[in-house]
Amino acid sequence: MLYRSDGRGYSEPNRNNRAVIIIAIIVGLAVLAGVAALVIKGYRNKNRVPEESAEEISEISSETEITEESQAVTSETEEESSEESSEEESEEESEEEESSEESEEESEGEVVTTDVDGDWRLILVNPWNKLPDGYEVPVIKLSNGLYVDERAYPDLQQFMDDCRAAGHSPYICSAYRTWDTQVYLYNNQVQQWIGYGYDEDEAKVKAATVVAIPGTSEHQLGLALDIVDTNERQLNSTQANNATQQWMMENCWKYGFILRFPEDKEDITGIIYEPWHYRYVGKEAAKEIMEQGVCLEEYLGKTDH
Ligand SMILES: [Zn+2]
Repeated sequence: MLYRSDGRGYSEPNRNNRAVIIIAIIVGLAVLAGVAALVIKGYRNKNRVPEESAEEISEISSETEITEESQAVTSETEEESSEESSEEESEEESEEEESSEESEEESEGEVVTTDVDGDWRLILVNPWNKLPDGYEVPVIKLSNGLYVDERAYPDLQQFMDDCRAAGHSPYICSAYRTWDTQVYLYNNQVQQWIGYGYDEDEAKVKAATVVAIPGTSEHQLGLALDIVDTNERQLNSTQANNATQQWMMENCWKYGFILRFPEDKEDITGIIYEPWHYRYVGKEAAKEIMEQGVCLEEYLGKTDH
């Protein structure tokens, strides 16, 4: 019997030791096989084509909760903004078909580069007035990781503060998007429609009904915000019914914002009713737009398309 130096136990060789060694080898092999399976799985996932739908991306960004101190600003200005993408989301097939027809018209060469030399608050970006390549926005980062044009920020902060003070809980789910982000979101949509069996041209038309063609989204201006109720984040017409949204629609003009895509202006804006998409135009223009009951295209006299 061989005692250990500490006087406890022994290590006399016997049959049990051999059995233990065999079991250890079997367990070791099983662990190795498991690791190998995980590595192969990871390798396959790495090479998969991304399948995130617009809604899934939206879900991800929605996880960034806005707190009471929301929009507390940092000076960071480099990172990309929201990946959220549910803008111009069609709710029903009929609406989708209508939008699709409009998109076909728009692809006939009517798109012009919008004028950005005038008042920065009144730049028109829509399916017929494209933002010039390389348009730069002086952005500021909100506490939830999104970005907005820093010149609109003070009014936005007041808008949100007052909304909360009135007992509501607004949640900004999309703000500034870089050109690259818009391209990514749009291309992702095109691939999805191709996956549904459409050819590339058809897929592009369909995609444009869900995500604006790069250069035609107001979110690229840094002046557009999708704001929903914290407890009801679906981007559809039911958004108009909640108290938070009703307060914002009624009061947004006081802070220089307008509800950009009203229910009765779809033919002019080219976009379905979006009771969550607010656009900063400055207090003076917002007041006039609300008083006159017009949309931005009408206010600017640019309704031709
Ligand atoms: Zn929007």
